[in-house]
Amino acid sequence: MLDVLRKIVQEVSTAPDLQAVLDLIVRRIQRAMRTQVCSVYLFDASQQRYVLMASKGLNKEAIGNVSLSPSEGIVGLVGERAEPINLEDASTHPSFIYLKATGEERFHAFLGVPIIHHRDVLGVLVVQQKEVRRFDESEEAFLVTLSAQLAGVIAHAEATGSVIRGAQAGSEERDRRFIGVSGAPGVAIGRVVVVAPAADLNAVPDRDAQDIDEELDKFHQALSAVQRDIKVVGRSLSKHLRSEEQALFDVYLRMLDDNALAGEISSRIRQGVWAQAALRDVILDHVRQFSAMEDPYLRERASDIRDLGRRILAYLQEASPTSLQFHENTILVADELSPAMLGEVPTDKLMGLVSVHGSGNSHAAILARSMGIPTVMGVVDLPYTKIDGCQAILDGYAGRFYLNPSEELGDAYQEILRGEQEVAAELATLKDLPATTTDGYRMPLWVNTGLVADVVRSLERGAEGIGLYRTEIPFMIRDFFPSEQEQMQTYRRQLEAFHPRPVTMRTLDIGGDKALPYFPIEEENPFLGWRGIRITLDHPEIFLVQVRAMLRAAEGLNNLRIMLPMVTSVREVEEALHQIDRAVVELRDEGHVVDRPPVGVMVEVPAAVYQVRRFARRVDFISVGSNDLTQYLLAVDRNNPRVADLYVPYHPAVLRALDYIAREARKEKNVQVSICGELAAEPAGALLLMAMGYDVLSMNATNLPRIKSAIRGVSLKQAQALYDRVKQMDDADKICQLLQDELKRLGLAQLSRPQMPGETFNRH
Ligand code: PEP
Ligand code: MG
Repeated sequence: MLDVLRKIVQEVSTAPDLQAVLDLIVRRIQRAMRTQVCSVYLFDASQQRYVLMASKGLNKEAIGNVSLSPSEGIVGLVGERAEPINLEDASTHPSFIYLKATGEERFHAFLGVPIIHHRDVLGVLVVQQKEVRRFDESEEAFLVTLSAQLAGVIAHAEATGSVIRGAQAGSEERDRRFIGVSGAPGVAIGRVVVVAPAADLNAVPDRDAQDIDEELDKFHQALSAVQRDIKVVGRSLSKHLRSEEQALFDVYLRMLDDNALAGEISSRIRQGVWAQAALRDVILDHVRQFSAMEDPYLRERASDIRDLGRRILAYLQEASPTSLQFHENTILVADELSPAMLGEVPTDKLMGLVSVHGSGNSHAAILARSMGIPTVMGVVDLPYTKIDGCQAILDGYAGRFYLNPSEELGDAYQEILRGEQEVAAELATLKDLPATTTDGYRMPLWVNTGLVADVVRSLERGAEGIGLYRTEIPFMIRDFFPSEQEQMQTYRRQLEAFHPRPVTMRTLDIGGDKALPYFPIEEENPFLGWRGIRITLDHPEIFLVQVRAMLRAAEGLNNLRIMLPMVTSVREVEEALHQIDRAVVELRDEGHVVDRPPVGVMVEVPAAVYQVRRFARRVDFISVGSNDLTQYLLAVDRNNPRVADLYVPYHPAVLRALDYIAREARKEKNVQVSICGELAAEPAGALLLMAMGYDVLSMNATNLPRIKSAIRGVSLKQAQALYDRVKQMDDADKICQLLQDELKRLGLAQLSRPQMPGETFNRH
């Protein structure tokens, strides 16, 4: 049964649109369970009814025409209870309604299971049989399992389907809304440009051919290149292969024949589709057909066809590397937004960013915040390959993305943009004023940097130091490890620009979701794996070169501080200190005038929380990385949009840990305790951290003026009173609500996100 289940899910996942998905589901289930009827009812929110969308066994004319309200029939009851209903004779059930058009009077046995996606009932899956009998437990378990697995596919196809339907009808569906999570605040209105990862057939965007002959030409060149490659590989392996294995290469070549795939792709291009999408359509269609075959040998051929498709696509993409054209108001959309992609669009044209995967705590989102580009992450149902060139609105506050916006929606967001500009103008006047509370408490505000552009923006916004310079970013946008000299020059620019203010350089923090293209790390659980200091201590040659570059860069400036990421034990701190001391001695021996800079430890994992005092005895400062600390304390992957709702830095456990860290660190004299996670960049978060006694708040440059304004708008006493109330509470949602209400009462509501009608506070 497991095999049947796997096959159905696999086949359904590759169906091209919603109707095909539903038709396949009913046919396959009816066959697998040997029932007389299988039907799918989907809930249509606009009509507030369950509509019969597909059926094998009921009258065809009823499909699309029969519907039930949630309070009607057994289908309505399954939806309302959100649990299966298994009846030996449905007609005797009090909720039974006889729907004449379906012809279902002949069927007695009834099993209905809800289709639930992210807690929403999308619809109901029903099987029926003529006899009077109860479906047995294994049948019920089978349908429940299948329904749970198909829910995601149906939700995705539903979202995709309506965009396609809209586009095909000519009258595009307006205000199509996709839900994600906030990546960076702000609103963007513009046109979509899709960036596709290399050689990924599923990611090829729809586009018309500008010049059909040119597209045909490109395709034939790519095809010849692949044919050539296959022949070369075939020849070079000929000595090692038996003749029947060698024959596989001929099969490969024959598949690419004009009478086979190539002919089909060419005729698709002649219909006016660009070569990459023509290739995608034909290859994926064949992959679907082969995957559905009973014969395991033939089923395996699906992967050969996909492989050929990928190879041709790689050549096609090489032939049009500059095919991306950026509009004046570009909203960049990617399946998985990477830090490097942000650099691909000229900044004056880049209005917003959307990523299908990832969450507000992914590093791409953190960078977007520091660049001030509105971003929505984790828009998992966005059919991103179908929307290149569409008009769109991106709401980075609420994590919403709208396609083909109506005039009314456009006007509403223009209004928010105007409001934002007013707030920004007001905040700009604070640049040279200190972050001092109304009762005279001075809170130092520092910035987090990584990009060269951050330095100027940070100074313009009145930053008093750098609390976190993410050194991995210059490492990420290169093809190999930068040399000591190159690193030294990059670091020197940061130190000079901020001199005499302190600059905290974090040693290389790769691993997790931060990969270097030239140092790949493949792990099952990357966030629990080889990350941060674990890598650099294992590679003293990388660590020492970096520390030497930092020390040399600070020669004569002396405003450097070094910070160690992902520390879990005292031994790691001691080893790192030993290496730093060694670098100082080496450089002095070489004639450099270098001092041992202040060194600090990041508290990012629960183990570090309980050792703060021990660390504090050995180093000069403690800095909390609340992004990772929240992830590890709550056991919520910071990149996973499915659990983004559970990633709550205002969770009582996180707040208690933050409080404990500050108290423990302060027990050691002359040890500064700061925070450089994103919580410090939220007005409510900043007030709580100030009340807990943090010495420095470090944040992205974009939010610094808001935080300054929040601090200037309250007294320390008020912040402490607020924190005292929060401390008593045990529910994160209630804490968020209280914070929102209090910001409003203190006249600081405009510093958090603007409110759209009917929206609630966004905790992130
Ligand atoms: C953190 O984890 O809070 C932090 C500042 O580091 P990063 O976001 O770069 O992991
Ligand atoms: Mg971190």
